Amino acid sequence: MELVELLFRAEKRLSGLHPLVADKARALIRKAYEEGIYIIITQGFRTVEEQNRLYALGRTKPGRIVTNARGGYSYHNFGLAFDVCVCNVFKGTLIPSWSLDRRWFRVGQIGKSLGLEWGGDWKSFKDYPHFQYTFGLSLAQLRAGKRPPAAVVAKK
Ligand SMILES: [Zn+2]
Repeated sequence: MELVELLFRAEKRLSGLHPLVADKARALIRKAYEEGIYIIITQGFRTVEEQNRLYALGRTKPGRIVTNARGGYSYHNFGLAFDVCVCNVFKGTLIPSWSLDRRWFRVGQIGKSLGLEWGGDWKSFKDYPHFQYTFGLSLAQLRAGKRPPAAVVAKK
């Protein structure tokens, strides 16, 4: 598995993210790769409508509950969060590995070393695939229209 392939695959999901957050996601992929851990990006920016559709699952729509955040109550809705999945490689193909093993915790550590907040640290709802970078802005501030600076020089 080549690093360039992992990075290429990630780009579709990284569009719509704040450029600094997208850069941190790329750095996370790269650093994990250096340790032999392959990750893919499964979610990035989500519209408020998409978030509300997810929130309805297991509540007003059939399915199981996948989020505790309704539209506007997730950093995904503001392009400041992304989700990953650790993968195994089988015959050259990436196979998502959702069982929580040491790789997930290592990815969490690497993410934190990049300044990201990791959902695996949350107390009430552990969200191991989730990373966010809030610029110190609360969701209430974001809902009120406050935005992070657009042009931040990304640290590589
Ligand atoms: Zn997430």
